[in-house]
Amino acid sequence: DPEATEFVLHEARENDVKFIRLWFADILGNLKGFAITVEELEHSLTRGMGFDGSSIEGFVRSDERDMYALPDPNTFNLLPWRPRENAVARMFCDILTPDDESHESDPRAVLRRNLSNASKLGYTYYVGPEIEYFYFKDSKGTSTDGRGSYFGQDATDLATDLRRQTVLTLEELGIPVESSHQEAAPSQHEIDLRHTDALTMADTVMTYRLVVKEIARQNGYYATFMPKPINGVNGSGMHMHQSLYQGDRNAFYDDDDPQHLSDTAKFFIAGLLKHAREITAVTNQWVNSYKRLVPQFEAPTYVTWSTVNRADLIRVPDFKPGREESRRIEFRSPDPACNPYLAFSVMLAAGLKGIENRYEFPPAAQSNALYMSQAERDELGIEALPANLWEAIQISERSELVHDSLGEPVFKSFIENKKIEWENYHSRVADYETEHYLPVL
Ligand code: GLN
Ligand code: MG
Ligand code: MG
Ligand code: MG
Repeated sequence: DPEATEFVLHEARENDVKFIRLWFADILGNLKGFAITVEELEHSLTRGMGFDGSSIEGFVRSDERDMYALPDPNTFNLLPWRPRENAVARMFCDILTPDDESHESDPRAVLRRNLSNASKLGYTYYVGPEIEYFYFKDSKGTSTDGRGSYFGQDATDLATDLRRQTVLTLEELGIPVESSHQEAAPSQHEIDLRHTDALTMADTVMTYRLVVKEIARQNGYYATFMPKPINGVNGSGMHMHQSLYQGDRNAFYDDDDPQHLSDTAKFFIAGLLKHAREITAVTNQWVNSYKRLVPQFEAPTYVTWSTVNRADLIRVPDFKPGREESRRIEFRSPDPACNPYLAFSVMLAAGLKGIENRYEFPPAAQSNALYMSQAERDELGIEALPANLWEAIQISERSELVHDSLGEPVFKSFIENKKIEWENYHSRVADYETEHYLPVL
């Protein structure tokens, strides 16, 4: 697109940009990249920049492989915390092979492929995350002494300024923020982004995590998206609000339905519910993710939906008249340490499968599945989310949906990465064991 290229070159000149960081995500959702000088910019926009493509393979990195990072001109922004003179910009890249094919292990390509499946059915996929995180004094988890309470407005809490700077920085990067607040746990916070199409949002989640950490660092703090950093208090989730649009019509809205939910929305929910256990390894990819998915901390543990309950996996917000455009569902299991490209891919694939196969829409949960007996849950067909990473891997590994939505190479590499992680964890003696067993056994 010569016009977009011209725009980027113009912006770079106007803003005294000297360095452009070319960003991409590895399989595990780590932000990776390298910087080029502005002299290389025009060339890189048309031909891509060569780099070692094995850097996106996670723990199972093989031999060096020549790949090309082709910057997406729509993602050009200045990094506001870098100097204004000889400024620094960033662009997200698509990863290409030397033959200009898209690189099979590029998470952005995986999401693009799933979005094009949606668009073949006439849909655009919109997502809006609520992203939670903690501030600590350092990466060892030293407490900030932040007291805080859910939606607290404590004048002495330093985090108020951190959050303010973070929101302003996100906005400078062109990322619209809806709101932000203190979360339920001490020193836990949340910033809610305005929904966008899923590709934009996946890039945005990558940027968001860096911005939150960068602002904390500048102020002498450490921010973390670790799903459950502290025992005994809430962990950090990334609730995902989702809807499908057909043109500028919200396909989740139906005037005639008592709940104003369309059949499309109901099939989509049914798809997410049916495949929830299979996709959990992707939406909750770390050993630690499963320490969050336990009862009593506002995180889901059972595969249910309702309009109110915080223990349910899917919440359907009440409809407000005049807000047809925001008819949506909220999927509550994902955590902010996922790979957003892959997580959005599997969520979308599950929902679309529900639509294509007209899955039966199960009734809303009438009471909290946590307080039912196992017999009652069995009777109602209520399943539990995987209890740990190993269980999640085993279910994912057998899932056609996860296989097909990630594609063979990413699927294989992801599962292999996760098995290595589980093996590392599982073969270690934990503090819990030395505390509980050594003194008595
Ligand atoms: N922190 C909770 C979670 O883990 C969510 C709390 C909330 O937003 N109600 O999902
Ligand atoms: Mg919230
Ligand atoms: Mg929250
Ligand atoms: Mg929520």
